[in-house]
Amino acid sequence: MENIEQKLISRINEHATPLRIMHVCGTHERTISKYAIRDVISEDIQLLSGPGCPVCVTPAEDINFAIALARSGKVITSFGDMMRVPGTAGSLFDARSEGCDVRMVYSIDDAIRIAEDNQTQEIVFFGIGFETTAPSNAAALLRGVPENFSILTSHKLMPPAMEILTQDTKVDGFLAPGHVSTIIGTDPYEPISKKGFPIVVTGFEALDVLLGIAMIQNQIESGSSSVENAYPRAVNAEGNIKAREMMYQVFKQTDTKWRGIGMIENSGLALRTEFEQFDASNVHAEIYEKVLHDRKVSETDSNRTGLYEECMCAEILTARAQPSQCPFFGGRCSPEDPVGPCMVSLEGTCYNWYKYRHNKGI
Ligand code: SF4
Repeated sequence: MENIEQKLISRINEHATPLRIMHVCGTHERTISKYAIRDVISEDIQLLSGPGCPVCVTPAEDINFAIALARSGKVITSFGDMMRVPGTAGSLFDARSEGCDVRMVYSIDDAIRIAEDNQTQEIVFFGIGFETTAPSNAAALLRGVPENFSILTSHKLMPPAMEILTQDTKVDGFLAPGHVSTIIGTDPYEPISKKGFPIVVTGFEALDVLLGIAMIQNQIESGSSSVENAYPRAVNAEGNIKAREMMYQVFKQTDTKWRGIGMIENSGLALRTEFEQFDASNVHAEIYEKVLHDRKVSETDSNRTGLYEECMCAEILTARAQPSQCPFFGGRCSPEDPVGPCMVSLEGTCYNWYKYRHNKGI
């Protein structure tokens, strides 16, 4: 008997028309690459990878700031992936190999413990990620943190980025990110769907992704565009209200720069005034200002800013190119020795193409 995956693949292929469906989640890219979903569905349906990898979209100047802090004697605490991503002044790993105190942590709580245990040192936590990680960082600040602790905030919000992609990239519909949607719910996608873009909130099994694709096809076939939830076991329309309340008690929306895309209005989170004593850019304002000044002096304000000259991450993050089109892919650039941010993380598009597709000659 045909299993559900096979039925969905048959259904998708029988109804295939030229379609460009974008996901904006590194875990979706992982599922799509790992289970070779592009290889089993019709070539007419292009699955595009958007800016869904948090370390990939962290701008070079934030990495440069973290490195400058480390070089000035502060203790930098960061997720492991972030330590390998190059800014324009090397990576945090490079700083560590110079003798700087850069420590890998799994959560903000690990960083707070380091601050409690080292009260004569200044501890900075590099806070990155989307709506999924910001609430736990907010909760930690609400519980209280030691005076020698601060946070370098580089959080990003997904709906404003999707909005921009509808203007700049040819896309017919979105697989919305399941993890982010557990926090924000499905309502924030409504304004985008009302502009004519079908959106399906999708989970992370191969079956989930196939279902998401089929549901987008259904909408397009029927000439409709709405927000549908194919991940009801984790996501509802309202999302996690409590998590969002905590998040906005501590953070406020702000314009922020996405690596490879540029400045996006209201797409980031900055600490509110009540928490500015824990904002690394305030606490270490002199170092921050110098990093910003150096950037202005040495770089043009381009979306490619901070990327190695021929690295195509700006094109990859906006689905204007595929990893295999990059001259460095699989040669000069590999997970062992990444040139650009998209090759570093388990959520990076280049990383996943290399891990799951490169051995097939792609
Ligand atoms: S293969 Fe490497 S250099 Fe090329 S776009 Fe990807 S990360 Fe950048």
